[in-house]
Amino acid sequence: MRLSRYFMPILKENPKEAEIVSHRLMLRAGMIRQQSQGIYSWLPLGKRVLDKVNAIIRDEQNRAGAIELSMPTLQSAELWQESGRYDAYGKEMLRIKDRQDRPMLYGPTNEEMVTDIFRSSVKSYKDLPLNLYHIQLKFRDEIRPRFGTMRSREFMMKDAYSFDLTREGAEHSYNKMFAAYLRTFDRLGLRAIPMRADTGPIGGKLSHEFIILADTGESEVFCHKDFVDFDIPGAHTDFDSVEGLQAIFDKWTSLYAATSEMHDEAAFNAVPEGDRLSARGIEVGHIFYFGTKYSEPMGAKVQGPDGKEHFVHMGSYGIGPTRLVPAIIEASHDDNGIIWPASVAPFDIVVINMKAGDQACDDTCELIYAALTKAGRDVLYDDTDDRAGTKFATADLIGVPVQIIAGPRAVANGEVEVKDRKTGARETMTIEAAINRFVA
Ligand code: ATP
Ligand code: MG
Repeated sequence: MRLSRYFMPILKENPKEAEIVSHRLMLRAGMIRQQSQGIYSWLPLGKRVLDKVNAIIRDEQNRAGAIELSMPTLQSAELWQESGRYDAYGKEMLRIKDRQDRPMLYGPTNEEMVTDIFRSSVKSYKDLPLNLYHIQLKFRDEIRPRFGTMRSREFMMKDAYSFDLTREGAEHSYNKMFAAYLRTFDRLGLRAIPMRADTGPIGGKLSHEFIILADTGESEVFCHKDFVDFDIPGAHTDFDSVEGLQAIFDKWTSLYAATSEMHDEAAFNAVPEGDRLSARGIEVGHIFYFGTKYSEPMGAKVQGPDGKEHFVHMGSYGIGPTRLVPAIIEASHDDNGIIWPASVAPFDIVVINMKAGDQACDDTCELIYAALTKAGRDVLYDDTDDRAGTKFATADLIGVPVQIIAGPRAVANGEVEVKDRKTGARETMTIEAAINRFVA
């Protein structure tokens, strides 16, 4: 991508409305724009990051055996009347009428709709277990939308829903998502700790929130500090192994970890004082097992091996991609801007032409840009005629992991400078060496 032809509206000034660093940096880097309270457009740079986050989430959902579909944002009120949640949900639900005066709503979550899909076609235990997910916009009319897309009214959610014949089966499904979440957040460059949680309006029996420790987090959390160094399940984890996944779950729930709603002071005080971590955190994922809470009122049942009908045991599993993007920034930035983990960076490399219009600089940059693009790298080429200082500031602000800098003096020697955004380390090398380093 040539910056001169791209759309990346950088802000020079610090936006006054931004209270936390991620919100400030997302606005400054031209990633998002507020359209009305708690409702955002994702501008091209932000969209790239969001897409990369979603690709990792999708990859790990698929690995764990979940199947992607797409459900609509608008739902009919009737479904929610069946489950009893239409009245219970309260003011967070955006209720709408269509031209025939039929009550509709903008979905805050999809338990009812997915249960309806399930009951319309699954009739036998032989089709279980089943886990269906989508990545879709949600709307919740939050009382206090704030911190940009961290807590917005319209936001994106990956929501998965599992169906099993028995409680034991459902627990295995829960453990699959538990392990998938650990892997997902790790690949996003984050350390998320599963904490015992309240089940809230989703309702249910077993629930964990995945929390990232951050001073700006809205939740108050308490946990054993060893979680910070626990091993993440590997890529070859067998998601069909009931014992294997149970062992992962048992290990990751063996020490104290709870949000303030579930906090047990006495149990926490039993943790040796030096091991106690009491901090603030950001909830980036939440998983629930809720048994037959929806299948019973909505009549979602299958024939079991005993020939009898059984209401299915369900769970639901949410991750907030539009919250994860600022959460990653909260965890990874410095005074100059964002520092993206390579896995979600909007571009892999930015090529900075320090003197656009200078033939040697132009030729060198074009050569590098073409070679790296051809090799499949996402490259941003700053070919604008801004001052070099402005270009460096922009590159640091948008947090691309690698900068390849071509200035007239180095280029005259057949060289460029390669800068690591995270460490700030700079290395001068030949043009060829720079290309070779990043084509592989
Ligand atoms: P919170 O306690 O932060 O209000 P919640 O418990 O109501 O969230 P869930 O129903 O558990 O949210 O939703 C699953 C995930 O969706 C959350 O873990 C979070 O990552 C994301 N999410 C929920 N509400 C919002 C929001 N208003 N803005 C952005 N992401 C959200
Ligand atoms: Mg939650």
